[in-house]
Amino acid sequence: MARTIVEEVREGRIPDELKAMARREGVDERRLARAIAAGRAVLIRNVKVPDRATAVGSGLTTKVNVNLGTSSEVVDLGAELEKVRIANKWGDTLMDLSVGGDLDAIRRAVIAESKLPVGTVPTYQAFIDSFKKKGGGAYFDEDELFDVVERHLKDGVAFMTIHAAVTRDLAIKALKSERIIQVVSRGGDMLIGWMLHNKKENPFYAQWDRVLELFKEYDAVISMGDALRPGATADSHDELHVAELLEAARLVKRARRAGVQVMVEGPGHVPLDEIVWDVKLMKKLTGGAPYYVLGPLPTDVAAPYDHIAGAIGAALAGAAGADLLCYLTPAEHLGLPTPKQVEEGAIAFRIAAHVADMVKLGRRARSWDDEVSKYRGELMWREMISKLIDPERAWSVYTQYGEPKVRGCTMCGGYCPMLMVKQQAKSL
Ligand code: SF4
Repeated sequence: MARTIVEEVREGRIPDELKAMARREGVDERRLARAIAAGRAVLIRNVKVPDRATAVGSGLTTKVNVNLGTSSEVVDLGAELEKVRIANKWGDTLMDLSVGGDLDAIRRAVIAESKLPVGTVPTYQAFIDSFKKKGGGAYFDEDELFDVVERHLKDGVAFMTIHAAVTRDLAIKALKSERIIQVVSRGGDMLIGWMLHNKKENPFYAQWDRVLELFKEYDAVISMGDALRPGATADSHDELHVAELLEAARLVKRARRAGVQVMVEGPGHVPLDEIVWDVKLMKKLTGGAPYYVLGPLPTDVAAPYDHIAGAIGAALAGAAGADLLCYLTPAEHLGLPTPKQVEEGAIAFRIAAHVADMVKLGRRARSWDDEVSKYRGELMWREMISKLIDPERAWSVYTQYGEPKVRGCTMCGGYCPMLMVKQQAKSL
């Protein structure tokens, strides 16, 4: 078996792909190698698709993940591939969360269209295949579940949500709990259903070493799922949420010892004042594993503006140390997003990632803001607009009443303080 990236850096070698990644990130390659060796950063890619990689973790820019995929109600491969192209433009990773149509064909088409590392949740397919072939979602056996994982790895999937930390005991406690919403994780709930039906322990938990072997073979990244993440702000950091995180931390340490790259997912709906310490707690418990945050969403009432509410939580989480932000769209909690809504969500989270990086990385991120501000102060419209996050949209807003005839914009026109201040300065 070829050496994994973790084994290589632990043996003191820095592979060319890691050197290239360090250049792309503007960081020292030895520092990046040390972070990967220690499990504080991961290189997300599958050896079968080595040209599509991104690095996530300590000392690196905050990344954005774009979810897409069919539902049981809406299967439109063309629309999903359009979402892939939007993700290519705005995201750093994407996840195919399809649960409707021919799942193998959709996944392969998504991987072919993507310029980014692709993630999946293999439990979906095990459950859905079982439902279609056997009449019940929980009728698959452990080997069938692991076969799906391997099929995804063979196709080049670079990271997968594996809900290994939800034990049968925790699942039963969650179902009996007084939470407002007991379980909101789709894949997590499928596994909970499997455990109850089969009266067995979670196969990913019971056979964690088997999971590690598979991911090691393809040098892909395990994304530790959070089946019991809070789906209501009132449920955040309850006994179940924290207990699953503790279990995840134990599994992360076993993965790290085995030389397998792992990041941790969390935490869903969390009030704003709990976000910073949530990030610190997760990092402390896992020895600094990369944190892949779902939002977090600091209020339950914002739909259809959850992309805005989520970006507020994500900016705070990112500034506190979260590494990969899973976007939310205006359709969150209401329906399957359209390509347009995918784009709105991706842009909101791209902004959140940069806001986080201004705090996390300082000058490395802020020089972009300074450049824009200098052009703005000089009313150099074309230069300023060309450097904005979305120049096309910015230009259309700037010219929405026709291209301004004055040097200021159509807001203050000739009374633009940036114009007047220059004349005032001349009079001194
Ligand atoms: S005209 Fe007003 S809004 Fe427009 S650039 Fe000048 S100060 Fe800003």
